Amino acid sequence: MASERCPCGSGDPFSGCCAPALRGEPAPTPEALMRSRYTAFAVGDGAYLAATWHPGTRPDDTEPDAGIRWSGLEILDAPPPTSKRGVVEFRARYRSGGAVGELHERSRFVFQSGRWWYLDGATPGTGSAPGS
Ligand SMILES: [Zn+2]
Repeated sequence: MASERCPCGSGDPFSGCCAPALRGEPAPTPEALMRSRYTAFAVGDGAYLAATWHPGTRPDDTEPDAGIRWSGLEILDAPPPTSKRGVVEFRARYRSGGAVGELHERSRFVFQSGRWWYLDGATPGTGSAPGS
């Protein structure tokens, strides 16, 4: 269905959200790349994950774990990137077997060769409590 909502949770149709990136168009921002990579995890597109992973940090095997079903993405922080660096903090929910899990990561992105790349990510430190 062309009007199907994008797995990344943007609320937009897949065709106008992450589909162009998965077809090979460079994602315009780190957040757009993050969303498209989540979508690639959700649909099992390991080739796209490899293509957007910085060659310096890319693992040999980028195939998503087939036993994990990704069920939601929430962008927590996506400050405006500089010309060469960006970060996106997100929370992604998944199901594995009968269990529900959550991945909370602050990902780093670099701009090289005319496009954004996923560099690496780390779990944000605890202790920050926005709004408290
Ligand atoms: Zn999307």
